[in-house]
Amino acid sequence: MLELQNITKYYKHSVNSNPAVNHVNLLVKEKDFISVIGPSGSGKSTLFHIITGLLKPSEGIVALDGKELTTLKKKDIFLAEQISFIMQGQNLLTNFTVEDNLYFPLYLAGIKGDYRERVREVLELVGLYGAVSSYPDRLSGGELRRIAIARALMQKPRILIADEPTSNLDTANAIKVMELFRKINEEGTALLISTHDERFLPYSKSIYRMEMGNLALL
Ligand code: ADP
Ligand code: ADP
Repeated sequence: MLELQNITKYYKHSVNSNPAVNHVNLLVKEKDFISVIGPSGSGKSTLFHIITGLLKPSEGIVALDGKELTTLKKKDIFLAEQISFIMQGQNLLTNFTVEDNLYFPLYLAGIKGDYRERVREVLELVGLYGAVSSYPDRLSGGELRRIAIARALMQKPRILIADEPTSNLDTANAIKVMELFRKINEEGTALLISTHDERFLPYSKSIYRMEMGNLALL
């Protein structure tokens, strides 16, 4: 399904001359639950930003079903390719209700339609339908994280990619998030997660370790 082929990334203004990501290959198949662990600075965010298209690799390609993603426009990827991302520091819009926050990515992508039923489904999935009309400042950190997951599920993605989805959460909330990922995976969405949260490992079907830009299966 999603394939990273020989991805290398050098930063122009890097403090050292080693690549942040070094000849990385990875295949994400249907129903996968892949966790990428590794210390801070090992290249996880760089790799995930390349997959999202935020960063261009120095070498290598990202392909979905054999089609190179870099040649597609973002909107096309969103619409046709069904990959969804939860990146770090991606916050909800404070002046909009939860419901409007869930619509927002669809709106940006130019998708029109009545999504009330889908809003209900994803909020029930994350256990927060009660918050449909709330503003983000009324919600706790753990609830906001689950709303961000709900938002990422709006378009029924085939692959959900999340960068450090349990960072800064206490154990109870981290476990809620991980159980939610398990449920999402059981319902058929492939997961690719970057984490240094060891608690994620028992939930994963395969674990990769990133170290100094190199990715290896554990
Ligand atoms: P991780 O997500 O595993 O913490 P990063 O991908 O953020 O790792 O960083 C990998 C390496 O790339 C680090 O050495 C970091 O200092 C470097 N790096 C990250 N972003 C930049 C940037 N914008 N410019 C230069 N170097 C960067
Ligand atoms: P994390 O490890 O939590 O992903 P980082 O602390 O590595 O985050 O990076 C935070 C931000 O700083 C990112 O946008 C990254 O691109 C940038 N960054 C990281 N390292 C460097 C660096 N050596 N030079 C310039 N920018 C960097």
